[in-house]
Amino acid sequence: SFTLALVGRPNVGKSTLFNRLVGKRLALVDDQPGVTRDLREGEARLGDLRFTVIDTAGLEEATDESLQGRMRRLTERAVEMADVCLFILDAREGVTPADEVFADILRRKSAHVLLAANKAESNASDAGVYEAYGLGLGDPIRISAEHGEGMGDLHAALMPLADAFEERAAAEAPEVDVELPEGDEFEGEDAAARITAAKPLQVAVVGRPNAGKSTLINKILGEDRLLTGPEAGITRDAISLPINWNGTPMRIFDTAGMRKKAKVQEKLEKLSVSDGLRAVKFAEVVVVLLDVEIPFEQQDLRIADLAEREGRAVVVAVNKWDLEDEKQAKLAGLKEAFERLLPQLKGAPLITVSAKTGRGLDRLHEAIVRAHDTWNRRVTTAKLNLWLAGMMEAHPPPAPQGKRIKLRYMTQVKTRPPAFVVMASFPEKLPDSYKRYLVNGLREDFDMPGTPIRLTFRSQS
Ligand code: GDP
Repeated sequence: SFTLALVGRPNVGKSTLFNRLVGKRLALVDDQPGVTRDLREGEARLGDLRFTVIDTAGLEEATDESLQGRMRRLTERAVEMADVCLFILDAREGVTPADEVFADILRRKSAHVLLAANKAESNASDAGVYEAYGLGLGDPIRISAEHGEGMGDLHAALMPLADAFEERAAAEAPEVDVELPEGDEFEGEDAAARITAAKPLQVAVVGRPNAGKSTLINKILGEDRLLTGPEAGITRDAISLPINWNGTPMRIFDTAGMRKKAKVQEKLEKLSVSDGLRAVKFAEVVVVLLDVEIPFEQQDLRIADLAEREGRAVVVAVNKWDLEDEKQAKLAGLKEAFERLLPQLKGAPLITVSAKTGRGLDRLHEAIVRAHDTWNRRVTTAKLNLWLAGMMEAHPPPAPQGKRIKLRYMTQVKTRPPAFVVMASFPEKLPDSYKRYLVNGLREDFDMPGTPIRLTFRSQS
């Protein structure tokens, strides 16, 4: 599945199209004060296609002079969240200077743009449709959101993209046959059935060479499917392995597997990082595997940071714990280093394991499943606003230069990872310390360790 953002200047018909794609009933669910002024998200249906649609319509009624800037920010955010942007213009009016501004943002920021010329139900709109060709964003799809015209063409335009996104996901996670225990067909079938029944949890194990990634994956698989050895860069050929770990269907990306292409150590280091990067993009949960003897190396830090920026759930696992004599002291040191070197991962679990002996693997499994749950967590708007009121009562936002910052309303706009929007007056004046106070509070009060939390502020006076 993919995410489509509806982008364009006010009154071109974004909301009408949103409502048509999502269905009135669903669209109304979020129709509370504040929410419609910002991004709306809904599950869209168009023929056989199912996708998520984001509407930037919210600023329709806003009239103050900051409108331009806010729309730009809102659009940029929607573009970031989406796989595809549908740029909508009003065919009756043709291409206006404001349209040009949006087209420019899209050209720079969006990988996939489709162009729709709306309100094209009559011939009077022909000139506007032709003008739209000149934007250089491909052929305009002629639609009438209000009358439901052109939906077939929109479907046809989305179809190849939808296919491409599916293909991309499949290519990055190639099917590997599940190896079933021999002579136990019945159980095997059962296990296979379970694997196909639930969507497997996508896990990437990343870390520097020799951290023990292959050993760990071997242990989880319970078989010697991958080679391990003391030599960094030894030939391996695993990519993505479907497993059923303690009853949880998972797909584990083995980033070590790609290393066979690397000939020299220097190249190897590079390659394993970029493999790691790729795995991170397709994973839901990233296990950053550290070597207890050389923890928090530069490479580890980089990849952990990337995982956070990409919005993945993160579990930090410290391997080779069996080698450690002074476990307690070591653990304290690791925790301190973790907080100091990776403050952006605050709250992520730190699990000690031995890939060799298998100790700690159950706890690792638990942490992965939990981080994944948290990453998918949705908090109701009612709870959030109750919580927000409590947070403001405990610590009122500051009043810089006599301007009272008011946090008016809060809602969760997205999961995977959880993302929240707070409507506020003068949000740009809100100090980072207060934002951290809110993020940390969210993490603790709603029990969300191990996942990035996105919190953004929208201006609403
Ligand atoms: P990778 O490059 O991250 O895939 O690392 P490998 O799995 O190839 O492991 C590198 C070396 O560390 C091998 O010699 C493993 O036997 C060793 N190793 C891996 N995990 C452990 C562990 O938990 N304890 C100990 N003592 N050695 C381990």
